[in-house]
Amino acid sequence: VKDYEIRPAASELRSHLFLASQGGASTTGQDPVAMIRKLIADKTAWEAGGSGQSPAGVVAASAAAGPVGAGKGGGGRKSRRLLAQTRWDDLAQLSHLTEDGILQQLSERYSSDMVYTYLGDILLAINPFKQLPIYSDAVAERYRDAAKADNPPHVFAVADECLQRLRQCAGARGQCVVISGESGAGKTCTADLLLRQVVRLSSTEQPALMERLLQVNPLLEAFGNASTVLNENSSRFGKYLELLVSPTGCIRGARLAHFLLEKARVVYQSKGERNFHIFYHLAHGDSHEHATLLARQTDFRYLHATFAPDSGRAAVHRAHLSAVRRGFLDLGFAETEVSSVFRLLSGILFLGNLRFNDHVQRSNADIATDSSKVANPEAASAAADLLGVSSADLADALTKTSLVARGESIQKFHSPADARASRDAMAKAVYDKLFSWIVQRTNDLLAPAASASGSTASAVSSIGILDIFGFENLSFNSFEQLCINTANEQLHYFFIQHVFNWERHELEQEGINVNVQVYDNKPVLDLLLGRPYGLLALLDEECSFPKASDLSLTEKLHKHAAEKYPRLYQQPKSATDLAFTVRHYAGHVTYSTQSFLSKNKDRLPVEIAALLRGSNLALLRSLFAQNVGPGGVSGGGNSSAAVSLGRPGSSGSTLVTPLSSAGLHKLSSGGSSVAGSRITGQTLAAYFRASLHDLLNRLLSAEPHFVRCLRPNREGRPDRIEPDKVLEQLRYTGVLETVEIRRQGYSHRLSFREFLAEYGPLVLGFSPVSRGASAGQAAMDLCRTVLKKLGLTGWLVGRHKVFLKYYHVELLIRRRAHLLAA
Ligand code: ADP
Ligand code: MG
Repeated sequence: VKDYEIRPAASELRSHLFLASQGGASTTGQDPVAMIRKLIADKTAWEAGGSGQSPAGVVAASAAAGPVGAGKGGGGRKSRRLLAQTRWDDLAQLSHLTEDGILQQLSERYSSDMVYTYLGDILLAINPFKQLPIYSDAVAERYRDAAKADNPPHVFAVADECLQRLRQCAGARGQCVVISGESGAGKTCTADLLLRQVVRLSSTEQPALMERLLQVNPLLEAFGNASTVLNENSSRFGKYLELLVSPTGCIRGARLAHFLLEKARVVYQSKGERNFHIFYHLAHGDSHEHATLLARQTDFRYLHATFAPDSGRAAVHRAHLSAVRRGFLDLGFAETEVSSVFRLLSGILFLGNLRFNDHVQRSNADIATDSSKVANPEAASAAADLLGVSSADLADALTKTSLVARGESIQKFHSPADARASRDAMAKAVYDKLFSWIVQRTNDLLAPAASASGSTASAVSSIGILDIFGFENLSFNSFEQLCINTANEQLHYFFIQHVFNWERHELEQEGINVNVQVYDNKPVLDLLLGRPYGLLALLDEECSFPKASDLSLTEKLHKHAAEKYPRLYQQPKSATDLAFTVRHYAGHVTYSTQSFLSKNKDRLPVEIAALLRGSNLALLRSLFAQNVGPGGVSGGGNSSAAVSLGRPGSSGSTLVTPLSSAGLHKLSSGGSSVAGSRITGQTLAAYFRASLHDLLNRLLSAEPHFVRCLRPNREGRPDRIEPDKVLEQLRYTGVLETVEIRRQGYSHRLSFREFLAEYGPLVLGFSPVSRGASAGQAAMDLCRTVLKKLGLTGWLVGRHKVFLKYYHVELLIRRRAHLLAA
């Protein structure tokens, strides 16, 4: 028993052994001694069955199980074999981890439909691509107030842990769950399961609120997801959903932020891809005012490649549209708002059908000028009607522009190509702003009501769930990929720092020497976000020069970045290529700088903005009335002051020492803009930087949990795991680095005072802090005594803090819960 307790090997056994040694019952109500007997009986039966050799990786694990294998007075060979057959719930407990060993473990588990595995406190989730019976209410209940080791790994356990942490420590930091992985790895499904479980586990003062919360994801998915070659329901935006929770675990409201909606998809989709779902729902729908109008039109260019009005999927789309309408109404949107949304979307579809012809314009002086004219006035008139503007004004706004030169206003006519570009810019801007408005409105509707007692929202903490696109390396990478990959670099930095850097730094501060090397991606972040020579800063600078071109930008990037970051930035072989390559943590990506400048400026022609501001449709008017440019609004800090954006000075009784903001890669928020909304004239890069900064502040102010989603195979098929594919993801999600760090690391560190206050009473029967012991040599000695009396080994005591491994803390929490129950 001692052996297992001291050097935990298999979490199942460990937890039962521990409870048995305490003479208690497990939180699931089973008798631990009986459970141990059963476990041993099962394993022995398996052994006796003599089904031959255990699989290679498992044997490796057994050989690695040093402490038990060493068999000091323990079960010797038998316990070694016993352990050999345990599928490891927690990879961090394997003593010698090799890539092969991890892959073997994950593959074995996956083939038994065990899709979740812990790596210390990180959850790995492999997409099953099939329905598993592990999300039922009955299963969910097992993860209520449970000790992690009592149940198999599960995303539900993460939800439970977040709530437990909030309840345990009044005034604890908020919790955040960072979900990452490549497209199709299961991030969005995981985020939704997590949300549902938190809602299920939290107490309900307002049942209606819970229902409304569950509408958020499906609604956003209709507007922000699309079918791509990798995923039929791919999220084309990043989202951070914060549930605002009272200290007793009661959800009071929610707050939403979104990032980088891929608005270009509204007007163009690559082969095999589609527009946002909502357009198809609408075009097939029969439950809205414009259904007849849309039904008469069988060809919408914006839906071009795949739109088939008579397809068998029409009924499915109709049902989806009804669900979207219901979702809006349940959330609290007004009927008129919903109609306006559908009207705008219909307007966008007709707008896309506008064609332009060459047209020769003659001025009074009979000078001929090339210009363009709407070729299909009926489409223009339908679009104009729906958008609430006159069709003549619409045509004018798209085909000409006014310039002021030497104090005189001159009309400049667009070529057909320019007119098409204006048309598409308008469609994208309307959609983008509409999406932002939906998010903003949802925030207003889900903001916590001011409580009757007048107690402020500051009593409310939060559980945030981040579902953001993974790293992208496409055949053609542009400005959007640069932003996405920058966000991923920043999140990777946050992750690595959490897991490792902070750990090493603090151990050093405490006078403890460790020697672990790890790849830190801070230099890449400097290349991307640094000032004044980071790529985004250089791009912004170039945008302020009227004569700048993609070529001048490319030369500028080469000149500064190549010089300063020779290892991370590469120029193309051919000097005429408008491109550069960045060595990201996840691999080399070549970006084309074509259109970088115009994409970054992202300006809507003034004529179009003016046209839309004058619309007789109130919603559209309001979208363009604000001093907000296109590009999206992240959940503004307006609705609640619940989450402090700054770093808390002290972590109170929290177990995990917070990361230091000093360690955060410094981002300037790009001027005085609030990250909530993009200011007119602000470049996308500056806005993006501000949103990212805001997101990081929120993450840093919370206690993080990480879920790494993995895609088992390229095709998205069930029951098939391709080791290469998984290995590649394990590498670039930092899992492999983490394994070693985690095993060696001390994920929990408490000041002497915190430690003595929390755990002193367990062995002393009183709190030594209340008797004055909280710092200095006496406190240090007392900490050592307590640790020894607790029977733990492998901890460290530094100058000011006690360093514990995550499993120590699990044991301690359990012991305390036990004591309280007794
Ligand atoms: P991502 O957001 O990472 O791109 P999704 O969450 O959209 O990926 O998942 C892609 C698809 O994989 C889903 O549409 C669903 O079919 C399947 N999937 C993901 N997670 C699960 C799960 N836990 N159980 C069953 N199927 C899943
Ligand atoms: Mg997704």
